[in-house]
Parts: sequence; structure tokens; C-alpha cells
Amino acid sequence: MKRRCVALLLTVLAMLSGGVSSAQDLGQNFRKIKEGIYVQSAREVNSTVGIVVTSEGVVLIDTGQTLVDTRQVADAVKKLTPLPVRFVINTEVHPDHTTGNFVFSPPAVVINHAGAGDAMRKADNPNRFATAAPEIKAAAEGYRLVTPHVEYQEKTTVRVGERVFELLRVRNAHSEADTAVWLPQERVLFAGSAAIPNSLNNVRPFVTIADLLAAAKMLRSLNPEVVVPGHGSPGTTRIFDESEKYYTLLLERVTAMVKAGKSREQIGMELRMPEYAEWAYQDRMPSNIDAAYRAATGR
Ligand SMILES: [Zn+2]
Repeated sequence: MKRRCVALLLTVLAMLSGGVSSAQDLGQNFRKIKEGIYVQSAREVNSTVGIVVTSEGVVLIDTGQTLVDTRQVADAVKKLTPLPVRFVINTEVHPDHTTGNFVFSPPAVVINHAGAGDAMRKADNPNRFATAAPEIKAAAEGYRLVTPHVEYQEKTTVRVGERVFELLRVRNAHSEADTAVWLPQERVLFAGSAAIPNSLNNVRPFVTIADLLAAAKMLRSLNPEVVVPGHGSPGTTRIFDESEKYYTLLLERVTAMVKAGKSREQIGMELRMPEYAEWAYQDRMPSNIDAAYRAATGR
């Protein structure tokens, strides 16, 4: 009986992985998405790294939640190909996507939308590893801030070997510069952090719900087969449907409360979103309410 339970559990786990075969040789934190396309992430809430192998070298999409992840990715690249990492595309400016840039550059050229470098330089903390765990300190050897060498406007295309990467600006959706990476031939979309599955997002003051809804619509309209979110498991366009549903409901409820004359403080105390109680990062709810309140009051 016990053995049958284990067998059933393994079957369920295989089904949950959505048919995405694991890249065993690279380690348990890697998944193969398509031929030559892998995703690294050590935990569900962690940032994802895309590894795309081409006949002329590797393109990385982001560089790891922590520098331990970055080193893991560097080792995986060496196992996959003798060719160098040619480009690192950052999908946002935050450290959990960009700190590892220095491990690959040089020779890699780093790219993100205009504004990324300024935001990264402004937020840089040279002492960021002072209180870090020993394994992070070890992985941080040689660290320096590497900001994008190329900052594009709105849209650009990078061609490496047989692959085409369309870089699309995702406007005001998460950080000061957000990029989605679309591989039209493979129909794989690295969507960045505009919509992350089963998790509340940190909605910063410059992000609006209108921008978030527009981002979901724009990314879904590409009609990708696989969506790799900035954090969380690879999935489908359902990630955008869920995000849209959530923000629409949040805005609806907050608007009704504003119309009933409630203050921001009252809304914070009274608003309930039980449909999303299982989502990660409930502590980010105040920033979500702020965004809905700004939208509902026109501020
Ligand atoms: Zn972020």
C-alpha cells in the first residue's frame, strides 16, 4: 500500500511538471523547456534564469535569485556547450535578476530597456554582501555592478545563430525597466515579473493597474506556447488570465468601497480577497491596495 502511494505521488508530481522534462544532467533546479532551452530556479518563489543555447553561443535571460544560483547556471552552461555566453538580457533591474551579470560579462553584452542602468546605479549597495551567508560571500568573489551595455527603446531584435530574440518593453509593470523576451520561432516567452503565478506582486508607486492589465493583454497576444514568468514555474498564458482576473477583482472591490465613502485606511482593514488567500507574499497586499486606490480615486 505504501509503495503504491509513493508511485501515485511520483505520477502526480510528473503530471504537475506539465510535461516539461527535467534536465537531469544539469541538476534538480533545471528544467528543459524545448530543445536547447532551459530554465533554472531553486524554489517556486525564486527568480528564473533562462538558458538558450544557439550555434553561436548562449543567451541568458536574467542571472539568478542569488549568486549561488548564478554559479550553478555558469556550470550548467559549461556542460551544455563549449561556446561562450554572448548576451545577458535582464528582464528588470532588481538584484534577484541582475546581481549575477558580472559572472558572465565580459564577454557577455548585457541588455535591458532604457532606464535600467540609472536605476541599478541608484539602488546599488556596495556592502550588500557584508551580512550574507558564507556560501553567498564565496559566490560573490569578484563582484562588481554590471549595468546594461545596451539600452534599447520600446523594442529591439537580437539574432544569435539560428535564434531570434524579440525584446519588448513592458511599460511600468514592475521595475524602472522591464523587458519581455519573445522567441517567435520556438513560441517561448520569458515574460519577466509583470505577472507571476500564484503570488502577489510588489506593486510599486509608479506601477498602475491599467499598466498591469495592458501588460497581460500585450503578452498574451503574442500567443506563446510556453510562458516563463520572472518568478515561479513555467506555464501557459493562463498566468496572464489569472493576473487579469485578480487585478480586475481587486479594482472592482476597492472602487466599490471608495464609492461607499471609505478611506484608504478603512479599505486596508476591511478588504478581503479570500479567492487569493493561498497566493504567496500576502504582505504585499498594502501595495496592491494602494494601486487600486490610486486607480479608483484618479490620483
Ligand atoms: Zn523584481
